[in-house]
Amino acid sequence: MVNCPNCDAVIELDEEELDEGDTITCEECGADLTVTGVDPLDVELTEDEDEDEEESDDDLDYDEDEDEDEEEEEEEDWK
Ligand SMILES: [Zn+2]
Repeated sequence: MVNCPNCDAVIELDEEELDEGDTITCEECGADLTVTGVDPLDVELTEDEDEDEEESDDDLDYDEDEDEDEEEEEEEDWK
C-alpha cells in the first residue's frame, strides 16, 4: 500500500502486479499516478502532458466543436 501524493489517501494496490512505470489512478481524488519503484513501492503524481485534463467535464461540448472544424477543413482541401 502507498499513500496518494496528491490527497494522502491510502491506495490499496496489488503490488505483485505492478511494474515500475505503470500508471494508476487514485480513487479518492482521481489523480493519475506513476509507479516509480516497486521495492519499496513508490508512486508519483503523473506529469500532466495533456492540456487541462482536469476540465474533462467539458469534454462533450469540446469534442463536438472540434469535429465540426475538422470536417470543414477536409472539404476545403478537397477542392
Ligand atoms: Zn489522491
